[in-house]
Amino acid sequence: MSRNDTYDAIVIGAGSVGMPSAVYLGERGVRVLVLDELPAPGQGQHKAAIGGVRATHSDPAKILLCKDSLEIFRGWKEEHGFDVGWKPGGYAFPIYDEPMEQTLRSLVSTQKSHGLNIDWIDDDAMAELIPGLRREGLRGGTYSPEDGQVSPLLLSVVLMRHAAALGAELRVKEQVTGYLIEGGAIKGLRTDQGVYYAPRVILAAGADAADHGPLLGIEIPVVPDSHEAGITAPVEHFIKPLVVDMRPGPEGKTANFYFGQNSEGQIIFCYTPKELFVGHNRESLSEFLPVLAGRMISLVPRLKHLLVRRVWRGLYPMTPDGVPIVSNVAQVSGLTLAVGMCGQGFMLGIGVGQEVASLAVEGKPLLPAEVAHALRFERDFTAAKTEALK
Ligand SMILES: Cc1cc2nc3c(=O)[nH]c(=O)nc-3n(C[C@H](O)[C@H](O)[C@H](O)COP(=O)(O)OP(=O)(O)OC[C@H]3O[C@@H](n4cnc5c(N)ncnc54)[C@H](O)[C@@H]3O)c2cc1C
Repeated sequence: MSRNDTYDAIVIGAGSVGMPSAVYLGERGVRVLVLDELPAPGQGQHKAAIGGVRATHSDPAKILLCKDSLEIFRGWKEEHGFDVGWKPGGYAFPIYDEPMEQTLRSLVSTQKSHGLNIDWIDDDAMAELIPGLRREGLRGGTYSPEDGQVSPLLLSVVLMRHAAALGAELRVKEQVTGYLIEGGAIKGLRTDQGVYYAPRVILAAGADAADHGPLLGIEIPVVPDSHEAGITAPVEHFIKPLVVDMRPGPEGKTANFYFGQNSEGQIIFCYTPKELFVGHNRESLSEFLPVLAGRMISLVPRLKHLLVRRVWRGLYPMTPDGVPIVSNVAQVSGLTLAVGMCGQGFMLGIGVGQEVASLAVEGKPLLPAEVAHALRFERDFTAAKTEALK
């Protein structure tokens, strides 16, 4: 079948970033086509996310973008009438060793200087926040009460419906295979089913972003690495915050284990292995559940009664410096990149979508110039991997 059509803008990828981009382009009256090779919206890495949303980062761009996301998530049901599974309750980092306490305490002052609501709380307050938390060696930790959680599954349905109500058209099971570029300006693209014309194209292709580089004549430095997650059967609500465990795992092998209880009462959990697995492989590893279960139980022993329902593996689309690329591209006029979301694309998505709409339509960022500068495509990616590890 062949299709020919003309739009104001085409978004490639109906994921964490592409869906909100379609919403905010639609809000500007732009006629948008969203294309995804998978059978439904949110079926890429979006559905792998466990739904944590926090503004408490150290990078100013991530802070501002996630602040925007949080504000929209909090008010979504009231404003639009649909539930996105918003669960307030914040993020808590219980700490058991002195060096980590120093690191987090120094980060708190930076975060406060960006207007974030975060504080160091003592061991009693932390234990009250996370019932059943291991007390031995607990020093306290940081708590940011305004962060929260959202359901990735609900969000994809709600965002795509909203985008459609604003006039966006979605075509799934259709793969973008090439671009129409004339005189350095984008004119449209080719898919495995037809040709579409538009003066603006937004690339939000997640873990596959680098594959589009040769088709566009540029190099897109996004490499996927994989992370595993799981979910239990629901239990009565007892944990408010999303909990991040910074203790080293067994033999120092794992870092950044985090879990929370979602709006349905299920415990949802995830970790970032120290030895990262680069590539697109998404087969679950047999070591994940035993290692993770051991860590969860050592932190909150009462969790041993939980019944795990499902585990999965997904991809973080990583940039070399751990900071996303949200940027127009000088070499290809009309092209906006919104890629390299790393492990935070779900929480960044709404803020990035707003930024994309402004870059694509008005040609300038919404973020303050110096912050937007850090997200540009033409930057030095060989700089130290500071944010990549956070
Ligand atoms: C286990 C795990 C837990 C996570 N937890 C969180 C969390 O709690 N909070 C958080 O913020 N982030 C989390 N993340 C990270 C988050 O999932 C990603 O950063 C985010 O989903 C990336 O969004 P994206 O829009 O860039 O990519 P995606 O959501 O993957 O969207 C990209 C889309 O582009 C489509 N596409 C690509 N190429 C083409 C093509 N040629 N033609 C047509 N379509 C194409 C794909 O099919 C896909 O649907 C987690 C990730 C994992 C793996």
